[in-house]
Amino acid sequence: MRNEGKAYVSFSGGQDSTVLADMAARVCQASNYELRLVFCNTGLEHPEIVKFAPKFVEWIKTQYPELDVVLEIIRPKMSFKDVVEQHGYPVIGKDISSCVKYCRQGSQWAINNFEGLDRHGNVHTYKQGMYPQWKFLVDAPFKISDACCYELKEKPFEQYEKETGRLPILGLMAYESKRRKNAYLRGGCNSFDNDRPMSTPMGYWLKQDVLWYLKRFEIPYSEAYGEIQEEWTNYKRKENKPTGKLKTTGSERTGCQFCLFAIQQDGEPNRFQRLRVDYPKLHDYCMREENGLGIKKVLDYLGYPSE
Ligand code: SF4
Repeated sequence: MRNEGKAYVSFSGGQDSTVLADMAARVCQASNYELRLVFCNTGLEHPEIVKFAPKFVEWIKTQYPELDVVLEIIRPKMSFKDVVEQHGYPVIGKDISSCVKYCRQGSQWAINNFEGLDRHGNVHTYKQGMYPQWKFLVDAPFKISDACCYELKEKPFEQYEKETGRLPILGLMAYESKRRKNAYLRGGCNSFDNDRPMSTPMGYWLKQDVLWYLKRFEIPYSEAYGEIQEEWTNYKRKENKPTGKLKTTGSERTGCQFCLFAIQQDGEPNRFQRLRVDYPKLHDYCMREENGLGIKKVLDYLGYPSE
């Protein structure tokens, strides 16, 4: 094993990292290494996810009794409120937020992106489909930036790696975004020569693989997801039959509760409308300007309902 076995599993309590932790447990038990799970508590996690993390560790201990399992909890130095005040809101996606920030600073590549052009000013088909629709965000009366994930997630892990000398094993999957796909195509599953060496053994997995693994090996997962069930066709005049795919009956989104990334994919009720029903006080904190996060003004500007 690389780095004399000094590694850790980045464990978020979500389904992907739950699978990763189980796979790592099998390898660690067979190789006589301890299993170190590191959970970054940003304060934004779904409450069910926070409850699940220690329960899962207890389950791992019963399944792999000879394995030495350690759960470490780390925290970012900044809160989400600090991030939105100092850097800006994470809106739509990392690339869009970054582009808004740099466009406002006058970077030509970012200005070109919002015109659907490449760096040289030539029409770029992919950029045309992605950026111009969000150009109006450049004029938004609030700050926008992609700094949130770095401040709240990446930085605490980088700090942890620096202090402990451990290298990360991450549950990132290429299908999740273009950025991840490109990173996977560049580095593969084990990018040990990077500035930040890491292993991403699930890089080529799809969501269905995760669900099948959980079902096949009867691995517990957070209640936030509901149940894993087989998906059935449901065409009115045709016979109802299994599609061969799995689905979850609960939330598909268990990431940071106040995040505005991918809000455009929510439909209604969106994540904030659901938050209002499930956690009204939290919703109020999110929306209000004074002593709150001021998310209502962002949703209003984007044209999505806040309640
Ligand atoms: S997922 Fe969203 S809220 Fe969570 S750290 Fe990243 S940008 Fe911030």
